[in-house]
Amino acid sequence: MTEEFNAERSRGSSNNFRTLQITPLDEEDQEEAQIDNSGDVDSYDDDEEEEEDEDKEPVGLGVLEKPEYSWSLQRELFPSKAGGTPAWLDPVNLPTGRSCLCDFCIKPLQFMLQVYAPLTEKDSTFHRTLFIFMCTSMSCLLKDQHEQWKRNQDKSSRSVKVFRCQLPRYNSFYSSEPPKNNGKDKPSSAGAVLCGWCGTWRGDKVCGSCRRVHYCSENHQAVHWKSGHKRCCLPSSISQDASEPSNNRTLRKVQEVASNGLWPEYEIAITDECEDKVSDDNGQVNSLISSSRVDESIEALMDSFGGEDDKKSWASFQERISRTPEQVLRYYRDAGAKPLWPTSSGQPSKADIPKCTYCGGRRTFEFQVLPQILYYFGVENDAHSLDWATIAVYTCESSCDGNVAYKEEFAWVQIASQYSTTQR
Ligand SMILES: [Zn+2]
Ligand SMILES: [Zn+2]
Ligand SMILES: [Zn+2]
Ligand SMILES: [Zn+2]
Repeated sequence: MTEEFNAERSRGSSNNFRTLQITPLDEEDQEEAQIDNSGDVDSYDDDEEEEEDEDKEPVGLGVLEKPEYSWSLQRELFPSKAGGTPAWLDPVNLPTGRSCLCDFCIKPLQFMLQVYAPLTEKDSTFHRTLFIFMCTSMSCLLKDQHEQWKRNQDKSSRSVKVFRCQLPRYNSFYSSEPPKNNGKDKPSSAGAVLCGWCGTWRGDKVCGSCRRVHYCSENHQAVHWKSGHKRCCLPSSISQDASEPSNNRTLRKVQEVASNGLWPEYEIAITDECEDKVSDDNGQVNSLISSSRVDESIEALMDSFGGEDDKKSWASFQERISRTPEQVLRYYRDAGAKPLWPTSSGQPSKADIPKCTYCGGRRTFEFQVLPQILYYFGVENDAHSLDWATIAVYTCESSCDGNVAYKEEFAWVQIASQYSTTQR
């Protein structure tokens, strides 16, 4: 079956949720898609704000599925995916330096998920992917929590980071034609050499002895050494053409990753949220997750809530989520879109959301990640494990182009309240 990205591009819809879905392409679309900025986007936007309550696009729900093929999540297919390694959209100009690190423990951040969310508004967002990384340490997340309330800091310290990357249709990394999704698609050029341990960040450092394995950081080099590289590290005189990474190799095959600490890999499938309430019988009964960690953590949460407001908002949050209990992500980029907050405390005000670092414009809510994803990642559900109530991602309203390939956006983390009272 031939499927296509951005089939809705020519329709002038400013709500990009449609473009998240992969829909069949007809010839008409393809022709029009080559014309830049064809729609009268501005006036469409205005209309939309007026009729905010009618005619709303449904919220896009992300559920996790095992990838169908070994090649399903390759970067040239523009996947939305969770766990494993990122499918970098721009495979060369990756984030560097402090951007890749937890600002508290200074270890490289772990890849959580990426959402392919192209925008129809302009050519430079023909491809557009948002990436979330986080430190796996709960104590770092608690420090992060403290920092995020400090307003107007130029460089606040974070353990959760979001990047936005976008490319025009005609770019040097991918064909301008849609992928065929038959296992034969190839990117147009090789990507940067990545860290041999995490497979995530640029491998700008190299093992001094064999000069074969690249690393993003001394930290990952040390972990790899201890966990086995010291036994298979051969001096560079024995291994040939080691320092020059072969173009072919990086083009053809997925990066080898030595770490077994990455989260398991899934494809994110996006479906519409069903607006109807679940009829009488309890919609959660048959769900995959409800019987395990989610119910437990809900009970723990309910017990720990002091305020009636929190209980109320938790109940309505649960009711909404229970319609599709396996959802791990809610995508809703629209004028005035708001996250669905699990608790009434710990929500940011407008002033808490910093302006875009690159254009100075407003950031608006785009999607949120639910803690259900930790179940799929196999994260233990005990007192010191990583946990949160929701992570809301805010991105530059105009999705500006800036001067770097990966633009840092903003995540607001709402922590389950039992942590603030340390009773559990
Ligand atoms: Zn950390
Ligand atoms: Zn690494
Ligand atoms: Zn080595
Ligand atoms: Zn901006």
